[in-house]
Amino acid sequence: MSGIRPTGYLHLGNYFGAVRNYVRMQDEFECYFMVADLHSLTTHPDTKELKLNVHRVLSENIACGLDPDKVALYCQSHIYETAELYLYLNMLAYKGELEKTVTFKDKARQHPDNINAGLLTYPVLQAADIILHRAKYVPVGKDQEQHLEMARNFVNRFNHRYGDVFPEPIAFNFGDDLVKVPSLDGAGKMSKSENQYATLYLSDDDELIRKKVMKAKTDSGPTEPNTPMPDYIENIFLLMKLVSAEDVVAKYQGDYNNCIIRYGDMKKQLAEDMVKFITPIREQADSIRNDEKYLKEIMEKGAAKARKSAKATIELVRDAMGLNYY
Ligand code: AMP
Repeated sequence: MSGIRPTGYLHLGNYFGAVRNYVRMQDEFECYFMVADLHSLTTHPDTKELKLNVHRVLSENIACGLDPDKVALYCQSHIYETAELYLYLNMLAYKGELEKTVTFKDKARQHPDNINAGLLTYPVLQAADIILHRAKYVPVGKDQEQHLEMARNFVNRFNHRYGDVFPEPIAFNFGDDLVKVPSLDGAGKMSKSENQYATLYLSDDDELIRKKVMKAKTDSGPTEPNTPMPDYIENIFLLMKLVSAEDVVAKYQGDYNNCIIRYGDMKKQLAEDMVKFITPIREQADSIRNDEKYLKEIMEKGAAKARKSAKATIELVRDAMGLNYY
């Protein structure tokens, strides 16, 4: 189970941190993937663009290879049981731990005029989304590690107090280590809303991709063999490893170690490999995005699957809590 907020275009971080794993998991697991529209309200209360953004995230997920016949692909707000479980979990979440969450502190700093209770309890809603399907594996990027740890704490408190209902959810990645895709300016991670010029979106056109990659920070190169790489150079290699062939990466690594690397050539190569990677996804997402009828059908089908699993869990929860009086 996993989700993505409809707060903007998907980027390379969303792809390599999350969606790539969704696509691989769909053949091996029973999967629930949602557009986290309720979560987006914690920071984006204006709903004028929401429908467009929900459609965009759905289209981009499908364009990346997610098959709505294999997984439940749905919209968070269509599953009302989420709100009930969120309420119960809120009684097991403490103010102190919520205030210490890194993402809460970051967002409170970014939006000082809107530090709402939904923002504070974001990890509780996220835990409710996950355990509503009694999910075990949660494919997410590295930035979500702390939220998953909190979800495990809420699960353990629930199970301890009311009886074993939920498995402990864990952050999952096929490559073992969780992924953090760095931004092109070497400052932090790629993200939907910050540093738009340092983020590669799956909707960027070829020229924009080339421009962004060519602007990535470099220097004049090492002068001593086998010099440790500065962060921003390591980041370029990291991006190259995601989209380029192994022998290409090995060539530039060799050039770096032998102090003959030409970063201009490396970035040109990276830009072309990035264009090759992003173009088919962008083109497919564009062709799906405006097909409202198809997207509506997918959301309905996904919600029906998710609702079935949610209702079964809520029955177990009410029984365990002793709330079934009638
Ligand atoms: P969000 O865009 O915050 O809704 O995140 C959706 C998914 O993308 C989550 O699983 C995140 O962990 C993942 N994600 C977002 N940005 C990055 C990044 N720069 N590197 C790796 N994963 C990311």
